[in-house]
Amino acid sequence: MTQPFLVPPGTHVNLADYDPGYTGDYEKKSAAKAARKDNVKRLQALQEVLWAEGKHSLLVVLQALDAGGKDGTIKHVMRGVNPQGCQVTSFKVPTEEELAHDYLWRIHQAVPRRGYIGIFNRSHYEDVLVVRVHNLVPESVWQQRYDEINHFEEMLADNGTTILKFFLYISKDEQKERFEERLQDPKKNWKFSMSDVRERDHWDEYIAAYEDALSRCSTPWAPWHIVPADHKWYRNLVVSGAMVQALEKLDMHFPPPLPDADQIAIPD
Ligand code: ADP
Repeated sequence: MTQPFLVPPGTHVNLADYDPGYTGDYEKKSAAKAARKDNVKRLQALQEVLWAEGKHSLLVVLQALDAGGKDGTIKHVMRGVNPQGCQVTSFKVPTEEELAHDYLWRIHQAVPRRGYIGIFNRSHYEDVLVVRVHNLVPESVWQQRYDEINHFEEMLADNGTTILKFFLYISKDEQKERFEERLQDPKKNWKFSMSDVRERDHWDEYIAAYEDALSRCSTPWAPWHIVPADHKWYRNLVVSGAMVQALEKLDMHFPPPLPDADQIAIPD
């Protein structure tokens, strides 16, 4: 079910062709409940063998426009997963030390070790998104980053990291609704920031920057998925489904028992 959301390498993405409100075969949340629960359960089991085998790691990259649902996705898909085997990294405005290095320096340090699931809440893609929209470096610098990112991700994949990238695509109307909800609901006020409203003015520039990142950096070793994200429950289903599918492909096994396990007596 996740395949329609995968961006085939070499595709020229035009986001106007994608519907953020799409919900596939499901008309409403309740219809997808069983599939959602099943994904969570399978993910739990797969993470256990990922951890026990210790050969592979899974890196999930989440990108979205503001209020796109990165936090909610993490909360949902990591539900039930053993916290010992996962690690979430949120990338903010780079610190002075980070800026004194190449832009992939902080990213590389956060890549999950074998046996782990790593989630990036924002990522190195900010370096071709916000950086591009706000002219934080010259165009000649961000233009070469697409190739650099592809090479970096290929190296990670060659070294045992399965990479899945998700663009949580919400509509401009849905973003407005979510901002309004944040303003009105006392439990959500803390999520509201005037800077998000200012960024909304750059909506079209962000869409253009996303289209380039999705077109130029969806590779066989690190594919992008465009996730219809106006409906949170459907978004969660797509992301968890793609994670399950990717982990199942790894054909992982628990380490074999000790050859003489039946000979070992545990002292009283
Ligand atoms: P979030 O919106 O992800 O919940 P914050 O409100 O703290 O978290 O926002 C993080 C900010 O850091 C975003 O505005 C994002 O654009 C910015 N940011 C992340 N990476 C970079 C980068 N490489 N260069 C400049 N700004 C960045």
